[in-house]
Amino acid sequence: MVVPPDHKLHEVIQVSGLILSDDIRRQKIENHVAKMRFSAATARKIQDVFISEMNKGIHQQPSSLQMENTYIPELLDGTEEGLYLALDLGGTNFRVLLLELAHGAPVRQEVKRYYIGSELRVGSAIPLFDYLAECVSDFVIAQGLQDIELPLGFTFSFPMVQHSLDVGILVTWTKSFNCPDAVNKDAVRLLREALDRRDDTKVKVVAVLNDTTGTLVQGSTLDHNTAIGLILGTGSNACYLERADRVEHWETERHGERQVIIDIEWGAFGDNGVLDFIKTDFDRENDANSLIVNSFTFEKYIAGKYLGEVVRVILARLTKEGLLFVGENAPQSLLTPGSLTTDLVSHIEQDSVDGGDGNTKEVLGKFGIVPDQDDIRIVQYVCAVASNRAALLVSICLASLLDRIDREQVTIAVDGSLYKHHPRLEGWMTKYISLLAPGRKFKLIHAEDGSGKGAALVSAIAQRLQKRL
Ligand code: ADP
Ligand code: MG
Repeated sequence: MVVPPDHKLHEVIQVSGLILSDDIRRQKIENHVAKMRFSAATARKIQDVFISEMNKGIHQQPSSLQMENTYIPELLDGTEEGLYLALDLGGTNFRVLLLELAHGAPVRQEVKRYYIGSELRVGSAIPLFDYLAECVSDFVIAQGLQDIELPLGFTFSFPMVQHSLDVGILVTWTKSFNCPDAVNKDAVRLLREALDRRDDTKVKVVAVLNDTTGTLVQGSTLDHNTAIGLILGTGSNACYLERADRVEHWETERHGERQVIIDIEWGAFGDNGVLDFIKTDFDRENDANSLIVNSFTFEKYIAGKYLGEVVRVILARLTKEGLLFVGENAPQSLLTPGSLTTDLVSHIEQDSVDGGDGNTKEVLGKFGIVPDQDDIRIVQYVCAVASNRAALLVSICLASLLDRIDREQVTIAVDGSLYKHHPRLEGWMTKYISLLAPGRKFKLIHAEDGSGKGAALVSAIAQRLQKRL
């Protein structure tokens, strides 16, 4: 394998510089964000730290990477037939899905969204899980399937410790959920008990997983080389197919498994300080404005929930320093945390792709700002720098995974609105991964709805494994 020289890497990972009529102003602005533009040496250092944290995590040593065993030892083999259910909790919507499989591939899908009121999201877990069970029953009965035994895969996108494929202990609630009595309990058991209380269907909960794992499995039905699942949505995480003999944490009896999906939980990468060398004042402020401070360090650099805020914090700083929107009325709304969402960053980035300024003006207009040409260039530059850093960070980790997996060809299945809608992430990632993992053949594919379809597919795998025992 030929490692490209660092000057080549350095050249490729830079975003185009800022062009302003005032050279001193340009210099000052570039200095403010200089730490967000990594040198080749910094990129290599991040890669080393990621590899080291992965190794520690998999050997159950202290690490910011949990490297959770998902207990999914194989993908679909083309023999799966029949009807499978999925329950998707923890994404933007709560849904129940039915998937019909023929020869291991989905041939029909039914899906229904349900609303979970805020009163159910906090308080005791029993009413919440009773409601989840009620929705499952409602859906199954509407499909006329109440007398048929249906395996269900439960996508529970919250931090959990898995003891087996169907035991997931909730570590902590996140997002808008907080039912304290469910913490340290098995989410599958809570759901089974609620289904038993109703006793009006024959649904069997056979697997618990998160959206990332679902994405890998869903991706494998689109491309059989899929060995990595990646989420770039509200949050960010990745999982991959690991050699079973490398995995120490395995609580169930082994049956000669050759591989298993490992959920990296990379959102928390750096929570122990190992990434502090890239942390900027902007990141500190972004963290301070977040719901749970001092956690999810890596996610706060890259994910949809935060990227807009990073941009906003930088723009607010430049404004305060008199380098941006000079002479404009202080744009109060821009100084409010959370006011600049990541979809707006995508919208501005589209201008950079097209060489235009219409979207940038439109976004700034929403903040009551009428920008001049320099303001537009600066705002576009900041969006590019923040987005580019996100793309590079994700690419560094993916490149390390390709080396670790060490296969002829690896497909990376990606889900999430950030990846889907940001106009430059995919292109940057393709370029950066090639450079950081030279000689590795890989492909990035969209695997939509891993948290839904993927869960139904995992229930099919779980059922097949059960039958074999
Ligand atoms: P979830 O991660 O909750 O399952 P999504 O994958 O749809 O759901 O991700 C939603 C997140 O994606 C939002 O929080 C937002 O930050 C981000 N997002 C939505 N639209 C865009 C866009 N056009 N460009 C970039 N990010 C977006
Ligand atoms: Mg999702």
